[in-house]
Amino acid sequence: MTTGVNRNQEVLRKTEHPGTDHNSKAWVLRCCICGWCYGANSTDAWERKCPNCQGGRPGLPIPLEREGEKWNREELVIAFNLYSQIPFGTIHMRNPKVIELAAVLGRSPGSVSYKLANFARLDPALQARGIHGSPHGAKGDEEVWHEFAQRPDALVYESARLLAARRGCSVENVAEVDESDLPPPGEERDAIVRLRVNQGFFRKRVLSAYEFRCCVTGLDATELLVASHIVPWAEDTANRLNPKNGLCLNALHDRAFDRHLMWIDPGYTVRFAARLHESAQRSETSLAWLLSFEGSRLKLPKRFVPDADLLGQHSRRCLVQAR
Ligand SMILES: [Zn+2]
Repeated sequence: MTTGVNRNQEVLRKTEHPGTDHNSKAWVLRCCICGWCYGANSTDAWERKCPNCQGGRPGLPIPLEREGEKWNREELVIAFNLYSQIPFGTIHMRNPKVIELAAVLGRSPGSVSYKLANFARLDPALQARGIHGSPHGAKGDEEVWHEFAQRPDALVYESARLLAARRGCSVENVAEVDESDLPPPGEERDAIVRLRVNQGFFRKRVLSAYEFRCCVTGLDATELLVASHIVPWAEDTANRLNPKNGLCLNALHDRAFDRHLMWIDPGYTVRFAARLHESAQRSETSLAWLLSFEGSRLKLPKRFVPDADLLGQHSRRCLVQAR
């Protein structure tokens, strides 16, 4: 019987740990279908089947060489990136993303989850709600936290680069950057990739803060959600990656917000431009749904509540344009 190459898996990490076959090493694989992580012998890794969804043999234990060792800066930078992109309530050790990161780092899911809880302890947004995370944070955690706050664009890219280096793949791959329209390798491509890595980070950070729900309508179809900038990306460099300069909106309300046809009043009330209401009255169009949220209150996120000053800047411009 010939066994084929299983293309539905990827190598997460090649370890120096001996496998169970003669002269083999233990490799860590990830199933591309269900996300399961499992160990395999390097000698037959490519024809392994996922033990979770393809009926493969139970995988080898994933080597945990780093478990119990002090976290270094690289690991912390990579972990903070994940912390920023998943909702607070999901930083537990059963989260597939936590399990995957643990497999990449050579640590247990429990210790990755514990590290994410340390970051939560430093999160002002969570402190304000009386959530204090783990009380035993290390100094390194604080340093990485502040670095991310001070120069987020550099750190976000660095974390993608570090993760890519560990996984032996490209930054584009790690950050899920759309490569279809990228120019050939060179400075221009690098600049675009850097921009997209940062934009992708902003999107995931905002959407996860809102737990993947539109803050006007409550709609939760991720494909239709946008991480909308309150003050546009091009206009305010300092707030480009600030999650408090973001709103999670469905595509239609995002467009209305972007075109200054919708704004948020103090008290987080949703408002629409008079000319939208007028055109709704002139014709019986489906604008009714869009406008039915007039006067409703924004569904605020548990962390990164939108900045009142930035919302004020946006509203003032809407009112000027309405004249
Ligand atoms: Zn699977």
